[in-house]
Amino acid sequence: MFINVAQNHEQEYLTTILINTLLFLRRMIPDTRNTLWRELEVEIQSRAKKKDHSFRLTGSWKKFLRKESSYKIYVVNGKWIRNNLCAYFTHGGHGFVHEFIPLDEIWIETHHPSEGINEMTLCPCKVKKRGQNVSKNFFESTILHEITEYELMKKGINYWVAHHAALQKEREVGLIKDPYDDT
Ligand SMILES: [Zn+2]
Repeated sequence: MFINVAQNHEQEYLTTILINTLLFLRRMIPDTRNTLWRELEVEIQSRAKKKDHSFRLTGSWKKFLRKESSYKIYVVNGKWIRNNLCAYFTHGGHGFVHEFIPLDEIWIETHHPSEGINEMTLCPCKVKKRGQNVSKNFFESTILHEITEYELMKKGINYWVAHHAALQKEREVGLIKDPYDDT
């Protein structure tokens, strides 16, 4: 009797996962980017656990905000990062996407990028004013995004799928109207 109940429960659980996965895949946006992106992302993700744990960047462009579960959340100056570390850094980042971010750190920028000359670096958000500060809710939603994406990538899910699952999580929690709307 106990085994049957446990089996039924497990079956129900697996069915829920399957349904959610299929629903998610139906919603999935095909990755039409240049294949270089995917190759680079896989390379960085697969090397993440081999990072030098003593390597930790610091500076006036980076300020510790708080701890959230096992993560240290930092507020960063995105423009400084784009000028000095990574031209395509936008809004937030973590160690499975950027080689130079330690695995226990999440970096969130204070402004919507106002510089940038092509799709790779332009801020895709709907904003009141170009280059404006991110709102409190946008900031918190970005933290949620980065942690969700991180947790999935840690399990081996690729960036593109993890990124879209994180966008979906942002929509479900609803701190902002849309992950790309900060008006
Ligand atoms: Zn933006």
